[in-house]
Amino acid sequence: MEDTPATRWQAVEQRISAAAVAAGRNPLEITTVVVTKFHPASLVRELSEAGVTDVGENRHQEAVSKQEQLSDLALTWHFVGQLQSNKAKAVAEYCSVIHSIDRTSLLRALAGSERTVDVFLEVNLTHDSGRGGVMPSELLGLAEETLATPNLNLLGLMAVAPLEEEPAAAFDRVVALSHELHSLAPQATKLSIGMSADFEAAIAAGATHLRIGSAITGKRPATP
Ligand SMILES: *Cc1c(COP(=O)(O)O)cnc(C)c1O
Repeated sequence: MEDTPATRWQAVEQRISAAAVAAGRNPLEITTVVVTKFHPASLVRELSEAGVTDVGENRHQEAVSKQEQLSDLALTWHFVGQLQSNKAKAVAEYCSVIHSIDRTSLLRALAGSERTVDVFLEVNLTHDSGRGGVMPSELLGLAEETLATPNLNLLGLMAVAPLEEEPAAAFDRVVALSHELHSLAPQATKLSIGMSADFEAAIAAGATHLRIGSAITGKRPATP
């Protein structure tokens, strides 16, 4: 079989289905967001023609340009990267889902947005508070403020497994935090965990959204 983004996507989808079945889960409850950062709009179009419906980006300028070039396609755009407050409102205009809410200044920036945006709260699983994500001790406070912000629909939690930890152990910590979140927001049950290297472990842990880049797109170009 030819090795193209479309065939890699199909191969990944098969692995996702197999991992879901092995975990006793329905593959249809798992959304694959194909992260296309640094790749051209033409690659996103190719993936859309192959059946991809959800794409993820991590930089506003690059994302908005691709979204404009591909406005004829029925794609759902997800923002997965660190977000600057002064870009948040613009991102909400073309992204249906923002996975990287990690501070109250973003909530304030999004409060005036014109349409409802689905959001994940990103949890920082490292000890380095300079990384993206809210520290676990501050999660519930941020969740309360999210619930009080008009036009935001809290889906659940997002996290990136740290390189220095077994992904399964990291995802277990996210699941425990998710249970804490449910006491405050019973409907916020979604989990955006799992990337190219660890999506099978994420599915076993209960992922509902996978953010998969290089396993599908191939290696990212060095310069965006
Ligand atoms: C780039 C990126 C991904 C995808 O990473 P791969 O390892 O290429 O699958 C997922 N989540 C976030 C936040 C990213 O920035």
